[in-house]
Amino acid sequence: MIYDVVIAGAGPVGLFLACELRLAGLSVLVLEQADNPRSPLKRIPFGMRGLSVPTIEAFYRRGLLRDIAMPQRPKADADSGNASKVGQGAQQLRRQAGHFAGIPFDYDKIDTSKWQYRLPSPADTNMAAEMENIESALTARASAMGVEIRRGLGVGDFDQSDEEVTIRAGGETFRGRWLVGCDGGRSTVRKTGGFEVIGTDPEFTGYSVQVEMADPEKLGSGRIYTPTGMYFQSQPGTIAMVEFDGGAFHRSQPITLEHIQVVLRRISCTDVTLTGLHLATTWTDRAYQATAYRKGRVLLAGDAAHIHSPLGGQGLNLGFGDAMNLGWKLAASIRGEAPVGLLDSYSSERHPVGAQVLDWSRAQVALMRPSGHSRALEAIIRDVIDTRDGATYFAERVWGVSFRYDLGGSHPLVGRSAPDFELVDGTKLGELLGNGKGLFLDFDGSTPLQALASRWNGRITYVANDVKDRLGLSALLVRPDGVVAWAGVANPSQEEAARAASRWFGEAES
Ligand SMILES: Cc1cc2nc3c(=O)[nH]c(=O)nc-3n(C[C@H](O)[C@H](O)[C@H](O)COP(=O)(O)OP(=O)(O)OC[C@H]3O[C@@H](n4cnc5c(N)ncnc54)[C@H](O)[C@@H]3O)c2cc1C
Repeated sequence: MIYDVVIAGAGPVGLFLACELRLAGLSVLVLEQADNPRSPLKRIPFGMRGLSVPTIEAFYRRGLLRDIAMPQRPKADADSGNASKVGQGAQQLRRQAGHFAGIPFDYDKIDTSKWQYRLPSPADTNMAAEMENIESALTARASAMGVEIRRGLGVGDFDQSDEEVTIRAGGETFRGRWLVGCDGGRSTVRKTGGFEVIGTDPEFTGYSVQVEMADPEKLGSGRIYTPTGMYFQSQPGTIAMVEFDGGAFHRSQPITLEHIQVVLRRISCTDVTLTGLHLATTWTDRAYQATAYRKGRVLLAGDAAHIHSPLGGQGLNLGFGDAMNLGWKLAASIRGEAPVGLLDSYSSERHPVGAQVLDWSRAQVALMRPSGHSRALEAIIRDVIDTRDGATYFAERVWGVSFRYDLGGSHPLVGRSAPDFELVDGTKLGELLGNGKGLFLDFDGSTPLQALASRWNGRITYVANDVKDRLGLSALLVRPDGVVAWAGVANPSQEEAARAASRWFGEAES
């Protein structure tokens, strides 16, 4: 059998991409090297992941928000309100709106009136979810949709021809028309495929540990900068710390209680004594990105395409954004419906977004260095973040509210996520995107636009209905990934709408 797409890696990005491709009717095989998806590192506290607007919107639009955010809640609760206000983790995030290198910004200071195209939506600005739950919800969804997931099969190597990719994994051979590497930061697909990566080497080893202490009172709580590094005790015994050792320790030696004690003493400038080590992992601020996300019939998404430190919690969001952008484009290419250049727009749209996130993480490293220069810079950022404009800027960046692809277009909404318009019958725009197709929303129900939309029948859903708040628009065309492709004001130009539809959905039927 030849699959339309073989995905290496059943991590969150591979699983979400599999769902997107299956939504478009493709045959999808996911190969995962681990036998068991469970790990204590995927559970709270270390498995807690902060999700930003584009991710929350993607889950909402595909009907996944409830499964990911609050599996323990009864359906009625889940339907009634704002996802980020329920769930213990979400409440923790609510007290402080977010942070930059540990410098917090407050909800009260954020000027949301600047976000003129954000309408009330079940997809709020931020929420927290547990990694293990994200993966199990996506696995359940993918399996229910008919994605084949094979565990215990690590992709070893592959060859590609003009028509297909032959993949060898765990002594078996698989064929796919396309291969997507979603196999994480140490991606075999990236290395075997000869993708070039460029970036910056690490300055520190980061540690996330759960320990018992004989004298816990010796450590402070919250995030503490010292002359030798930074440590953050989120709850008693749960500590993250960074040591500026050039990343030397990471994966070079076993993590022992003795080593953690030495490092913690050095960083905290105390003589704290550890009596137990329950869980420990290390990470670095290595920041590298593939220069291109596609080589022939092989593509990269998620950490396979870009790696950076977990500072500011953006990696997973970046990966979901890749999957949401790639899924419909790859599906259209396979079905022979893609306009010229559609698949290449995956790299050209997503690479700059990845580069920005890498820079965001590098900027935080610069602030965290144990030097007088960094403390001076930190003091300035603290002042700025405490202003209304400062808090709003950081919230926009951390939550992805200001996110926009540069698609040209005459209206400021083009390239942005579509506002969650509410139709007069109560239906929300997000619900209309559940089928993974494009959406022509025509507030006036004008005949010419209807006729236009019918030429892309099957690829674009046409909905004629007024909305409660038009935001000055009369119609809009939304891509399957929720991005506005065209926005029309009064007496919208048919030509512009037709051009946008052809650009993203290919040739119209005559
Ligand atoms: C401590 C910490 C905190 C973080 N917090 C946040 C946060 O708050 N918000 C956020 O957005 N991000 C956060 N991140 C980053 C986020 O976890 C990653 O960016 C995300 O997991 C990447 O998903 P992925 O699917 O691309 O890769 P992975 O999660 O690494 O999944 C890759 C999968 O591929 C499998 N695999 C590997 N090699 C092969 C192979 N050869 N063949 C088949 N399968 C293979 C692996 O077993 C794995 O299942 C954090 C990371 C860390 C370490």
